[in-house]
Amino acid sequence: MTDKIHKTEAQWRAELAPEQYHVCREHGTERPFTGKYHAYHESGVYRCSCCGAELFASDHKFDSGTGWPSFWQPLAGEAVASTEDLSHGMRRTEVHCSQCGAHLGHVFPDGPDPTGLRYCINSVSLDFAPKGDE
Ligand code: FE
Repeated sequence: MTDKIHKTEAQWRAELAPEQYHVCREHGTERPFTGKYHAYHESGVYRCSCCGAELFASDHKFDSGTGWPSFWQPLAGEAVASTEDLSHGMRRTEVHCSQCGAHLGHVFPDGPDPTGLRYCINSVSLDFAPKGDE
């Protein structure tokens, strides 16, 4: 088990780039088709950009056409946690890094087989590590 990472908002604000802070700590959303990973197809692992925890694998990535990197499952079940999100007049399931609490995106029940899930993730919440370097 990994230890949970706790930092103050001031510490996160000092460490993270402004857009990264906004998305990861204030539950923002990057504009679609602007992130670095929505059309990225290299083989490897996607880590949390805030704490380095391994969250998603390229083997589970698919092209959703939404403009955000999309995965049909997390790398390991416990790496990504979820909460109910009732903001913006919608009922959605928010997903975050279970190690540091960074907001990642949302999960929707309209993904492909075999899970039928679509983890819709902000690129700025992720850091890609090529295969062999993970
Ligand atoms: Fe994290």
